[in-house]
Amino acid sequence: MTPTPPDEALPIPPDEALIAGAWRRGAGAPTETVDPATGRPLATVHAATVEEVAEAAEAAARAAADPRWRDLLPHQRARLLTRIAELIDAEGGRLAALQTADTGKALTETRALVASAAGTFRYTAAALETAEEAITPARGAYVTMSVYEPIGVVGAINPWNSPVASDAQKLAPALAGGNAVLLKPADWTPLVSLALGRLVTRALDELGLPTALLAVLPGRGSVVGDAIVRDPRVGKVSFTGGTSTGRTLAHAAAEKLMPVSLELGGKSPTVVLADADVEQALAGVMFGVFSSSGQSCIAGSRLFVARALYDDFVGELAERVRKLRVGPGTDPATQVAPLVHHRHRDAVAAYVDLARAEGARVLAGGAVPEGEEYADGAYYLPTLLDGLPNSARVCQEEIFGPVLVALPFDDEDDLVAQADASVYGLACGIWTRDHRAAWRIARRIDAGTVWINTYKQFSISTPFGGMKDSGLGREKGRDGIRQYQRQKSLYWGTSESPLPWAN
Ligand code: NAP
Repeated sequence: MTPTPPDEALPIPPDEALIAGAWRRGAGAPTETVDPATGRPLATVHAATVEEVAEAAEAAARAAADPRWRDLLPHQRARLLTRIAELIDAEGGRLAALQTADTGKALTETRALVASAAGTFRYTAAALETAEEAITPARGAYVTMSVYEPIGVVGAINPWNSPVASDAQKLAPALAGGNAVLLKPADWTPLVSLALGRLVTRALDELGLPTALLAVLPGRGSVVGDAIVRDPRVGKVSFTGGTSTGRTLAHAAAEKLMPVSLELGGKSPTVVLADADVEQALAGVMFGVFSSSGQSCIAGSRLFVARALYDDFVGELAERVRKLRVGPGTDPATQVAPLVHHRHRDAVAAYVDLARAEGARVLAGGAVPEGEEYADGAYYLPTLLDGLPNSARVCQEEIFGPVLVALPFDDEDDLVAQADASVYGLACGIWTRDHRAAWRIARRIDAGTVWINTYKQFSISTPFGGMKDSGLGREKGRDGIRQYQRQKSLYWGTSESPLPWAN
């Protein structure tokens, strides 16, 4: 791979981290980030060191306690979020181009993610302005109140698949809650988080707030992420990533008795009942798993089709999957863009090889695409497999790539038993015209989110999170801010008489 200068139009941030309120090059090892569509290096980013994490945490603790921030009323904190939203909107095109270059994702998708990031800040500002604290029913001569206070310093650790959106999903409620934040982007895709950090610094500067309220700390998870989790000043960590990393992190957090929110992996079932609108279901199943090239925690990667419909549906699906357009994220015609990294592409390919060895039929894809235009990128064809039992590894393990496994089911009990025979419980899709069946299945399935006759639609006003090994806690919604606060009860005595012991 020959290093070539990055596209001049790309707003590649300088090789600097945001540490203790100032931008400077991290003192740790350099990492080269690569454009997965071409294999070309994009930028070098030096990691923060463990000592720099401690320095950032100390400065963040001071910033969180700084009266310029601590004494702001909620509606005043909301001004910061609104300003960040404006800056994201103004830089939207550049942020989307940067994220496409760094993650490989289609530009159509990264534009939507950037817009959703701005929307997240705006929604959270509105939720903050209108959040209420409760006067609870008193049971004596006192008035009781339940109020919410900042935690202080929180850690936000994110994966590589949708950085701008996942960063916003943590930064907006954490700042709204009155905290300072230490943000660690994924090692493969730090660029958009660094660019977003510059916008947040600008907003903090403009409003006269301490810039150490945000640190952006690139580097390896096992070093920088671990240091954030273990730092005594960090009072909560919000993590999005794989289940085994989440488990490791939760163990470390338990040592400090620190709360964590964990948004983890999935192996979500998409269900097609015999009476489904087949056109809608075909489009929904394909979008549900192959958009983002399957690199989505909520990818509908297990397809359950009613046995009566199975052969026709899966046959037609295979035809259509073969026609999906694979190409670079910058091409507006692309439906399936490259995977984030060549190493990840190889891991996805290894799963398909494993499925073959376990006896799967490969109905579509199952290979790297051929052709000069694909030679240097991390491409993999959208793949449809069947012929395996639900217990097969590719039916149970998260592949996080464009791979769909189809299975038939006999009746509702069989469906629910198969769908729930998974360690995960993140999402589920149901395609049917029978609203009663949809209701029954939706209520029986172990999943944090169920989509009925739609899939992979998101609203910031609706809580999101997983069951079982898919996670702990919920993000988004009005209560999203509360995940970054501590609840306190106040009792105000109203009696004119002393308490009984005075006698
Ligand atoms: P990952 O390997 O678990 O990494 C996630 C983040 O954790 C990265 O920033 C990583 O840093 C960091 N990390 C790694 N080890 C750590 C440690 N010991 N302590 C603290 N931080 C550590 O996940 P990924 O491969 O980047 O992302 C894919 C996974 O994310 C999939 O399982 C997917 O389902 C899940 N995901 C879940 C959701 C959701 O909302 N439920 C959304 C998106 C993705 P490095 O990059 O340096 O390794």
